[in-house]
Amino acid sequence: MPSTPVRLIAALGSGALTMALVAAPVSPAAGAPRTTEKEPVAVGSGGAVATVDAEATRVGLEVLRKGGNAVDAAVAAAATLGVTEPYSAGIGGGGFFVYYDAATGEVHTIDGRETAPQAMQEDAFVENGTPIQFNDAVTSGLSVGVPGTPQTWDVALDRWGTISLGEALHGATQVALRGFVVDQTFVDQTAANAGRFAAFTSTSELYLPGGQPPALGTVFRNRDMAATYDLLAEQGVQALYTGPLAQDIVDTVQEPPIAPGVTRLVRPGLMELGDLASYEALLREPTAVTYRGLDVFGMGPPSSGGSTVGEALNILENVPLTGIGETQALHHYFEASALAFADRNRYVGDSDYVTVPLDELLSDGFAAERACEISPLSALTKPVAPGSPDGDYAATCGSPTSAAQADEEGLSTTHLTTADRFGNVVAYTLTIESTGGSGIVVPDRGFLLNNELTDFNFTDTQGGNDPNLPAPGKRPRSSMSPTIVLDERGEPLLAVGSPGGSTIITTVLQILMNRLDLGMDLPEAVAAPRATQRNTPSVQAEPGFPRAELAALGHMFANNPEIGAATGIEFLDSGLLQAVAEPLRRGGGSAGVVIPG
Ligand code: GLU
Repeated sequence: MPSTPVRLIAALGSGALTMALVAAPVSPAAGAPRTTEKEPVAVGSGGAVATVDAEATRVGLEVLRKGGNAVDAAVAAAATLGVTEPYSAGIGGGGFFVYYDAATGEVHTIDGRETAPQAMQEDAFVENGTPIQFNDAVTSGLSVGVPGTPQTWDVALDRWGTISLGEALHGATQVALRGFVVDQTFVDQTAANAGRFAAFTSTSELYLPGGQPPALGTVFRNRDMAATYDLLAEQGVQALYTGPLAQDIVDTVQEPPIAPGVTRLVRPGLMELGDLASYEALLREPTAVTYRGLDVFGMGPPSSGGSTVGEALNILENVPLTGIGETQALHHYFEASALAFADRNRYVGDSDYVTVPLDELLSDGFAAERACEISPLSALTKPVAPGSPDGDYAATCGSPTSAAQADEEGLSTTHLTTADRFGNVVAYTLTIESTGGSGIVVPDRGFLLNNELTDFNFTDTQGGNDPNLPAPGKRPRSSMSPTIVLDERGEPLLAVGSPGGSTIITTVLQILMNRLDLGMDLPEAVAAPRATQRNTPSVQAEPGFPRAELAALGHMFANNPEIGAATGIEFLDSGLLQAVAEPLRRGGGSAGVVIPG
C-alpha cells in the first residue's frame, strides 16, 4: 500500500509553526524532539539538501550553515537517515556515493557495496539442488553482506570533507538521543515487518516496544544507535570492522538472536571477522555518457545503474524526443529501457569478478544498433534478447525474444542529494536492501543488518554466462543510480537518484527524460506519474500514468501504486539552487536550502 502523506507539524511544537522551509526548524524546549515542516521544493542559495526526511535534511543544512561542504552534509544527513529511516539505510548496509568536485571539475565515485564473505560459494543459495525461497533468504544471516556504509563515510570525509567523522555524526546522534516523531511511513513499515521483527529478540526490543509498532506521533529514541555512533566518533569507523563491535556483528550473523518459541527457519550466515577486517570501500571511475550535449555521470559496476541509465539515454538520443508527442516519447522510453535491461541482465556484475563490456555498452555505436530494434508503430515483444556489445556494430535489427526473468530485488533504500556554496554536489544512494534489511538488529548496537546478498542471482539465469552469481568477496549487482549531470560548460546542472530496487534505473531515466526532453522543471519531473519497463511482458505503472495510446501500440500494463522516492537538486539559470523531493510518495520528502529566496 502507498503510505499516507503526512506533514509533520505541531506534533510537539508550539503554535509558531509558520515557517515555509525546513531551513527554519522549530525551536524546541531544551532536549525535546524537534519537528520540522516538510517541503518538497526549496529554492535559494548557500547550499541545498534534499532527502526523504525532515530531520536528515535539517541536519545536513546545519552542517552547511556552519561552513561544511556538500560531502560533510551528505554524510551527516545519511547518518541521520540511519536513525529516522532505519529500515532503508544505516551502518549495517552499503551504497554508492557520486561526487562532483567544483575545484577540479571532476566526478568521483565511492563503491561502498557490501561484499560476500570469503566462505560464500556460487551455490550458497541452493539447497538439495533447489534455490531457497527468496523470502527465506531475505530474513537470514546468510544474506548479510559485509557493510560498506561506514567506510564510505570515512573515505568521503577523508578525501573531500572538511569535518571529522565525529562532527558529521553529531546531529544524527542528537536525533537518536532526543528522538524523532514517528510518522505514518515509519508506522506502516514497522507494521509490515512486525512478523519477522518479532522473530528476533534484539529487533523486537528496539522496534516493537510492548510488542507493537511505535504509535503515530510518538517520540522514538534509539540510545543504542547513539552509543554506536559515539563509538565510531571516538575510535573511527574501524571500530565496526575490528574489535568488539565487529565480533557482535559476526556473532549476530552466525547465530541470529531468535526469540524463544520461534519456529521460523533462519539460516545462519557465513561472515567471519576476517571478512570485516578486509572490507574496502573503493574509488571507482564514474560511468559517463553525453546526452544531447550534456555529460551524465553515474555509478559503474557493481552497480548496473550508470551503465543501464547511460545505455538507455544513448538509445533515446537516436530520436528527437522533444516534439514527437508524449505517447511516442514514452513509447521510446519503454523500448530503450527494455533493451538496456536485457543487456544489463546479461552483461553486468561485479567487474572485479566478471568481464563487463562497459565501454561497448555505453558506446554510441552499440546504442544505434539497439535503437534500430525500435519501431514507432508497435511495441517490441518482451522480454527482448540481449545485444552483442562486441565493437562491431551493424544495424541488423530484428532481435529475437528471450525467456522471461523474475526480478526480486527489494524496494527499500534511500537517496539524498546535497550541494554547497562552492558548487560541489553529492548524489548518494544507500540501502540495507529490503525494507527492514535482514530484519536482524545487532543486539545492543541499535542498527539493522542488510540482506544485500539476495541481490545475487541464486542460480544461473543466463545459460552459463550469469555475471551475478555469488562468489567469495564478490559484490552483488546493484541498480542504484546516483546521477550527476553537467551542462555544456562542464558546470553542474542537476543531480538525482531514487530508491526502488531495479525500478531505480527507470525512475532516474524517466526523471531525466521529463526534465531534459519533455519540458518539465525538476519538481514536475519528479512528481509526474511513473511507469517502469524492465524487459518484462507488462509495464508497471502508477495510477495517473497515461496508458490508452501506449496500449494501442502494444504495451501491456500492470498496476504499481508507488514507484520510487526520488530527490534531486538543480542549479537554476538564475544562479539559485532548487532542492527537490517527492510531494507525496512515501509520505513526501524534505527539500531545504541554506538561504531561502
Ligand atoms: N539492493 C538494491 C540495489 O542495490 C536496492 C534496493 C532498493 O532500492 O530497494 O539495487
